[in-house]
Amino acid sequence: MIKENLSRINSKIKEICDKSSIEDSQVKLIAVSKTMPCEDILKAYEAGHRIFGENRVQEILDKYDKLPKDIEWHMIGHLQSNKIKYIIDKVKLVHSLDSMKLASCIEKEAAKANTEVHALLQVNVANEETKFGFTIDELLKNIEKFSEYKFLKIKGLMTVAPNVDNPEKNREIFKKLKQLSVDIKSKSIDNITMDCLSMGMTGDYPVAIEEGATYIRVGTAIFGVR
Ligand SMILES: *Cc1c(COP(=O)(O)O)cnc(C)c1O
Repeated sequence: MIKENLSRINSKIKEICDKSSIEDSQVKLIAVSKTMPCEDILKAYEAGHRIFGENRVQEILDKYDKLPKDIEWHMIGHLQSNKIKYIIDKVKLVHSLDSMKLASCIEKEAAKANTEVHALLQVNVANEETKFGFTIDELLKNIEKFSEYKFLKIKGLMTVAPNVDNPEKNREIFKKLKQLSVDIKSKSIDNITMDCLSMGMTGDYPVAIEEGATYIRVGTAIFGVR
């Protein structure tokens, strides 16, 4: 099933890209494997998939040890400052940089480990009280501060859109995140590039691709309900 799910989603991605004149190599599928056992991840791996997303540090560590080393791990969940050090050299990209405090903690740990950390700024576009992330105003007010960091490199933006019955309802959210990335890019701030846009999940990834997603994070449609 996992293999078939992946191939169906990959075809869908290609179809949307063709229709919207987007280069399909621009859009990367992150298989969100949180709570799923290693054997399920291996099924995806054997089908050729290499990019996986997790939201808990301990789970990344367990799976990192047990699974092939050419897997690219993405941290997509809220990160506690005291746990950064455990995954700093294991994840390709932190999608969930959601506060100035976390940024300075990542910088400190990255300096200690003498390694660059690539991260996306998580934006709470819809201003939901239950969600982590910068509001758009907060981010615009603070964005210049990221240029001071030597080890933390900002690569783009990420959002978790509201849970909706009709994905069209999230189109405005995705448009806003894209526009924000264009606005930030136009400031040409040192250390900040805006090439990555992480948005879209099982329920709304086709719309997210149409609006410029470069990473989509899909769990349920690949691995089934959690
Ligand atoms: C769980 C999760 C996903 C995947 O959600 P699905 O609806 O199962 O595709 C994507 N992004 C984040 C941040 C998540 O926590």
